[in-house]
Amino acid sequence: MADRYLHFTGTAPGRFLTRRLGLPQPAPLRRWTLETPRLDGPLLHLTAGTSALTEELAKALAAIGPTVDARTTGPGGPTGVDPSVGTARPTGADRPTGTVRPAGIVLDATGIASAVGLAEVHAALHPVVRSLAPGGRIVVLGTPPSSEDHHQAAAQQALEGFVRSLAKEVGRGSTVQLLRLPAAGVASFDTSAADGPHTAAASRTAVARAGSTLRFLLSPRSAYVSGQVVELTAAAPGPAGDPDAPLTGRTALVTGAARGIGAAIASVLARDGAQVIALDVPRAGEELVRTADRLGATALPLDITAPDAAARIADAAPDGLDILVHNAGITRDRRLANMPADRWAQVIEVNLNSVLRTTDALLAAGALNRGGRIVATASIAGIAGNNGQTNYAAGKAGIIGLVRSLGPRAAAEHGITVNAVAPGFIETRMTAAVPLAIREAGRRMNSLAQGGLPVDVAEAVAWFARPDSGAVNGQVLRVCGQSLLGA
Ligand code: NAD
Repeated sequence: MADRYLHFTGTAPGRFLTRRLGLPQPAPLRRWTLETPRLDGPLLHLTAGTSALTEELAKALAAIGPTVDARTTGPGGPTGVDPSVGTARPTGADRPTGTVRPAGIVLDATGIASAVGLAEVHAALHPVVRSLAPGGRIVVLGTPPSSEDHHQAAAQQALEGFVRSLAKEVGRGSTVQLLRLPAAGVASFDTSAADGPHTAAASRTAVARAGSTLRFLLSPRSAYVSGQVVELTAAAPGPAGDPDAPLTGRTALVTGAARGIGAAIASVLARDGAQVIALDVPRAGEELVRTADRLGATALPLDITAPDAAARIADAAPDGLDILVHNAGITRDRRLANMPADRWAQVIEVNLNSVLRTTDALLAAGALNRGGRIVATASIAGIAGNNGQTNYAAGKAGIIGLVRSLGPRAAAEHGITVNAVAPGFIETRMTAAVPLAIREAGRRMNSLAQGGLPVDVAEAVAWFARPDSGAVNGQVLRVCGQSLLGA
């Protein structure tokens, strides 16, 4: 179902009218295309206070795109920024000349360990936030709040409130996220320490862990992700591979792949080089074959709740699976008082039990290769709850429990990560069936004032699936435009 309001606000009369009436102004989101794979401008690298990561981070950002000089905040804010025009002036011979709006701003706040230090966050971003290009990205780097130092914990937790609020303010299709680097690495970032080479190595490792996530968050691929917190583990990131096809040589299985979000996931994984097996119920056979043929994928008509589903999946991937995406899902909405046991059971069976069963069986059979990636599909309903969806929300919350518990163990025992996407309102056949008023509310009640597209969820899955995302584990990423539900 097309979003006519988004289209209307893109026209001159639509813009005029909706502005006069104080209605939402969704900006068209710029998503990844072959022609526009990167953000439309340089990255501005800022540091709040001091950080031993600065040098390594500057190198990592330069590999992502053109950068504006790395700077440290001072009393007047970052140097080289003209607050009167609100634009950053890049410096250096090989940097773009003239006045340039940054398309991405990375604020390294890993060194902030007290509430007093929060002034540095304001000093760094206040002068430049207005200069961010439309559809821009802000990523704040922090560390997990410490259980042993309540001053550090207060300061680092403050960053979360800051990021979630700024994400609601930036507008024009821009997004803001918080990326937490593991405390273990940060503890050794003391530049004054005598072990200079060790510190350099530690900061190199810390930045390498963040590489795939920075690439994702500072790109058009994360267009519908905003106000989120990603926490990295101290695990080795894994090999980066071919930048244009990072999943080359990997075999991926996607459940519920005939249509909707599953078809988009299959398509994006194939785009990134994976050999895809597309699974869906036998009655979706024709649609499944069409999707699979389009992608050069293999169709596997199979009900994921079948008792032999895991064995059939293992048979379909004789060399083992590298990526397993649990996307199949159903709704059978009713308020609990009106919900018969079979509607409850069907949803729990497809959305949760089958995920647990196939994951366990494939792990036990060694059918998931080392370095593998499991990605499951939760929902913001599993975080916020939803009227008429006790069964669905229970199942999706169960997915979150599964991911958080299994992630660390699967990494330790099998070298496999386990993560989830939690989509918000995504334009698919599932949401087209939602009554009009609720559908409109679902579309607008988020910071980007529009629904997401299946490809937005697929891009997040592809980031989890990357070989160099080894430090991304046990995470639940909301792909919801910062929905107000469960915010
Ligand atoms: P969809 O109904 O368009 O597609 C779901 C696919 O799963 C269908 O092709 C269906 O045939 C398949 N499927 C259902 N039961 C199956 C089974 N037993 N075995 C194998 N395949 C089965 O739904 P969608 O909107 O693309 O949703 C995909 C996933 O995202 C679901 O898990 C859904 O709960 C979740 N999700 C969607 C939204 C949204 O806004 N669309 C929001 C949050 C979460």
